[in-house]
Amino acid sequence: MRLTEQDQGKELRYEFVSNSKYAGVVQSIYYGERSGIWIKLIKDAGMKSVAALCLGLMGGFCLVVCAVFRFAFKKPLGIRYLAWALFLCAWWMISEMEFRQLIFKNVSVWTITTYWCLMLIAFPILLYVDEIQEHRYRKLFSISLVYSGVVFVLGTIAQVFEIVEFVTQLPFIHVGLLFSIALVIGTLTWDTIRGRMKNYMLVGIGIYGMLLSAVFEMIFYYVQINVSLGTILAVGLMFLLVMAIIKTARDLLNDEKKKQEAIVAREAQAKFLANMSHEIRTPINAVIGMNEMIMRTCKTVEVQEYAQSIQRASGMLLELVNDVLDFSKIESGQLEIIEKDYYLADILQDEQSLLNARIANKPIEIRLKLDSTIPCKLYGDELRIKQITTNLLSNAAKYTERGCITIGIGSKWLDDDTILLQFSVSDTGIGIKEEELPNLFDEFKRFDMNKNCNIEGTGLGLNIVKQLVSLMKGEIEVDSIYGEGSTFTVTLPQKVVDKKPIGDYREMLQTSMEQARSKTHYFTAPKAKVLVVDDNAMNLSLMKELLKRTKMQVDVARSGMECIHLSQQKKYDLILMDHMMPEMDGIETLHKLRSMENNQNQATKVVVLTANSTAGCQEMYMECGFDDYFSKPIQVDKLEGLFLRYLPKEYIVLQEEKENTVDILEIDRAVGLSYCMDVEEIYQEMLNDFCEQSTECLKNLETYVQEENWKDYTVVVHSLKGNARTIGAMNFAQLCLQHEKAAKEANVMFLWEHYREFVDTLQKLVNQIRR
Ligand code: ADP
Repeated sequence: MRLTEQDQGKELRYEFVSNSKYAGVVQSIYYGERSGIWIKLIKDAGMKSVAALCLGLMGGFCLVVCAVFRFAFKKPLGIRYLAWALFLCAWWMISEMEFRQLIFKNVSVWTITTYWCLMLIAFPILLYVDEIQEHRYRKLFSISLVYSGVVFVLGTIAQVFEIVEFVTQLPFIHVGLLFSIALVIGTLTWDTIRGRMKNYMLVGIGIYGMLLSAVFEMIFYYVQINVSLGTILAVGLMFLLVMAIIKTARDLLNDEKKKQEAIVAREAQAKFLANMSHEIRTPINAVIGMNEMIMRTCKTVEVQEYAQSIQRASGMLLELVNDVLDFSKIESGQLEIIEKDYYLADILQDEQSLLNARIANKPIEIRLKLDSTIPCKLYGDELRIKQITTNLLSNAAKYTERGCITIGIGSKWLDDDTILLQFSVSDTGIGIKEEELPNLFDEFKRFDMNKNCNIEGTGLGLNIVKQLVSLMKGEIEVDSIYGEGSTFTVTLPQKVVDKKPIGDYREMLQTSMEQARSKTHYFTAPKAKVLVVDDNAMNLSLMKELLKRTKMQVDVARSGMECIHLSQQKKYDLILMDHMMPEMDGIETLHKLRSMENNQNQATKVVVLTANSTAGCQEMYMECGFDDYFSKPIQVDKLEGLFLRYLPKEYIVLQEEKENTVDILEIDRAVGLSYCMDVEEIYQEMLNDFCEQSTECLKNLETYVQEENWKDYTVVVHSLKGNARTIGAMNFAQLCLQHEKAAKEANVMFLWEHYREFVDTLQKLVNQIRR
């Protein structure tokens, strides 16, 4: 209302008419210039208003920061509740401000928000205290929260439908607030007494400070000290916020520190794993290599048997170490998928030789169902795909005694340059019980242990397969009928590099499989000059021994320096170089070799020999300039394959391997004759009898094996053993003894594995005697 000079001397009557309680109470009436009133109000309530604004700004700022943490870093901060509390407090103080009638047109609506603030404020405060107290008193707090919630809902409904106004509900609101404050003070005191406050000391001090400010506020109110109301409380709240911010910052720093420590620990673990991988694999490799030498040089049946056991056990140990390393690498998130171009045929070829080795001596047929239209060159992690297929195939071989293993490979186009590669392995093995299927891919889980106790395994293989498949964004499924067999199907999306179809690879593979199963080849290359560099003398002598039959000219060097020295004197066709060597390691030696001038071996192919099997190391070696990578333990077939790849073709002479059974067929005439009183005629008769009886035995053995009648099988091999001894076939008699023992113990695994070989040997023995 505007007053003018003409109004001078008139009476000014101020009438307050309202039926709403929100019309409030008239505290004071000012009249004067608008600016004058502003100045007066600022003098009276300025400080409180500035404090309220600061509080609101701080709360708002904190809320923004919390939202950033929440959405950008996915990290909800506990301080967000406090920020809400402050924000509501500030709102309440502002809505109570003396300026409000000068700023807001509809003061009544604005006043309603004051009540909402009062009703809601208990929520963020209790949630915040609950969070910093690690939810110890959640049940108590819940009572207060439920009470305040009910008051808020019912109160708002009552207000909206004009049943009861907020002002009338004020006592209920106050009860809720007082109860919440009592809870905060009570739990805080209890925590202080129990010494638990040290976990949130700063915030505790902050809350005590805030409570103290509330007490001062009250005292000032009653003793009428001229500090505008609310200012001290606002300061107390700001103090609490600052303390809470310091605590949050400290927590965040601690989290970051812990994260850094975890990264360092993970790096240390990775390093440890790499070292372990090297340290454990080196002695196993030596065992495998030395054993290989025994198997090549010693033909005695017994020693061969022992050596085969060592081979199986050490192979198993190596597999186990690799599995555990892979498992821990996957667990610590270090296993990377390294993609590059690869030919599908290469994988098939490798898998074929692996499967052949695993099912040797078992009556198992391998079938291939290959879709000839699959693109021949793909892009993906060849090594890991091989690991998956190897695992599934070796399981099929392990858990199948007879019948067939079917490898199916197909594909489906997903888009223009991606296919879904499907790889399946079906077997006619023991199968898996339906109730065990859901846990099949769990780590360290093995099933049907009464049947499988003779089959080695860790229960890690399928878990690793599953994890590798998901790392490659693929899927694995299993279908199994207990007692009939299982089918594992893996599907992997793969980019296509060359759309040319793989063609009738099946026929080629089948033929080469048959060839591999019927005969083994090796080669000689007397003209080839090879240099092997390794600081470990045992490895060098092993390598020399393994390469003996190839008749190559093998030189050895014990260090990088020696390698450089030798390569200045002779031109080599291939250099095999160890990586880890003292003084000058393999990589340094290679660089020196390549960079040295007038060096005749500057372009010689160099293959790195290493026990380091960690992910990505193959790429690392290739980047360093090596021509190829060869992982220890040295598998002779692969080693020979390496030479076949790198030596000049004209040097290579392929040889057919002599059969190992030669010595088993050996007949010691002197022993035989000694059983016949040294009478040649009797001995000849014995030999004849042996042949006739053996033919009979062969028939019987076949029947007993089919019927799994191991009792009669024992009787037959027992008599065969006696017969063999009387003619002087001592090695064969030894073999009979093994079969007799196995049949007595019903060691079906052994018998199935060795039966075919046994009857073949007997047949050969008979043929040899007849000749
Ligand atoms: P491992 O073979 O080392 O025991 P895996 O993780 O490869 O470990 O396999 C877990 C279990 O699943 C095996 O112990 C076996 O009981 C079962 N299993 C796996 N593959 C086959 C299969 N082809 N036929 C029957 N059972 C299988």
